[in-house]
Amino acid sequence: MAFEGLAEKLQSVFKRLRGKGKLTEADVEAALREVRLALLEADVHFKVVKDFIARVRQRAVGQEVLESLTPAQQVIKIVHDELTQLMGGQQARLDLGGAPPVPVMLVGLQGSGKTTTAAKLARLLARQGRQPLLVAADVYRPAAVEQLVTLGQQIQLPVHAPGTDRDPVDIAREGVAEARRRGRDVVIIDTAGRLHIDDALMEELERIRQAVAPREILLVVDAMTGQDAVNVAETFHRRLGIDGVVLTKLDGDARGGAALSVRAVTGRPIKFVGLGERVDQLEPFHPERMASRILGMGDVLSLIEKAQAAFDAQQAQRLERKLREQTFDLEDFLEQLRQVRKMGPLDQLLAMIPGLGPRLKDVTVDEGELRRIEAIIQSMTPEERRHPEIINASRRRRIARGSGTRVQDVNRLLKQFAETQRLMKQVTGAARRGRRGLGNL
Ligand code: GDP
Repeated sequence: MAFEGLAEKLQSVFKRLRGKGKLTEADVEAALREVRLALLEADVHFKVVKDFIARVRQRAVGQEVLESLTPAQQVIKIVHDELTQLMGGQQARLDLGGAPPVPVMLVGLQGSGKTTTAAKLARLLARQGRQPLLVAADVYRPAAVEQLVTLGQQIQLPVHAPGTDRDPVDIAREGVAEARRRGRDVVIIDTAGRLHIDDALMEELERIRQAVAPREILLVVDAMTGQDAVNVAETFHRRLGIDGVVLTKLDGDARGGAALSVRAVTGRPIKFVGLGERVDQLEPFHPERMASRILGMGDVLSLIEKAQAAFDAQQAQRLERKLREQTFDLEDFLEQLRQVRKMGPLDQLLAMIPGLGPRLKDVTVDEGELRRIEAIIQSMTPEERRHPEIINASRRRRIARGSGTRVQDVNRLLKQFAETQRLMKQVTGAARRGRRGLGNL
């Protein structure tokens, strides 16, 4: 998970600060030195670190903070604010204004995740009610065109891909015309990447830019390359002018240096982050939420959004009714489990829960356990799922055999379920009593 090392270090600095009660200027200075080291170790650009510390110091060493009743909290708040500012302050949204079809051009080096991101972005926009058309203009990387066509099928969106023996500028121009003909309102162009930045690449991208006049040029960079990603961003911005950055592979970047430096070095915001290989693993970038995650304050807003996207309203209503009528059974339990899994890898979800982030290192999230539970429930008859109380010893043995698990696993699941059911009865019982209480008023 991103920012692991940094999050852990900053949180331990602040924990010590909190333990102190009243703070002296020397305490704050000592903490700042540690923050500075932690940022450098996270591979944040040294100039960025220097400015950051200077800004925090200016605000944190004043009387107001030191004499406040909760000085440590004030310092943490300042660091939170400044981290947020460092990453751009507000969320930078995609600007898709103007007459449709609106062209969006993705640029970047080979292997940065450009093609994958094109599909992810198209999917995200489609879910927001847009009608994107993908354009395969990366004719240099072998198989980039096929890859985009396959991804297009997977997400059920059209791809303009006339082949690899054509001039990418023509492909891009035709792509926009094609979108107009088909009534698509956004055109996402996957442009040619190269292994390194060179003049030929820049000239070609410039020609595409002139041909299609993109509303947005998004640079895709690989977070795992750290400061190289920042250098690439700087060069692309100087040569071509970019509107924003998509930072991919943040899931594999334990340090986070690129995420924290890109904006300060290039002046261009991160608009999206890639958090995995799957097409649904692209998220809008929220500086404030990211700062909260780094400082272990969790990210409840993102968690709620994920839940809203994964749970459909009808299912939620059905579930609510079942809870009310106290007929929640193992089928529902399984459905719940699947919904939660749809929200994403468990460790990414848990990292968003306040206070849990730093402790996660010792928790191994056992995705295998989830699959085991699923297999066990699937090995039950419908009757057993609805009335788990009929599952006697011989049924338990059969279920264990059928699901390739042990009888102990089946026992554990049934116990967990009974516990869930008991809790739910308490909650719904309390809710009902609450309603009655109100009715009497
Ligand atoms: P391109 O050459 O820039 O078009 O790169 P690709 O889209 O082919 O991506 C290169 C590799 O990075 C592929 O194996 C992708 O699955 C992978 N990739 C892309 N984005 C992400 C991401 O956000 N997280 C992870 N873990 N892998 C990614």
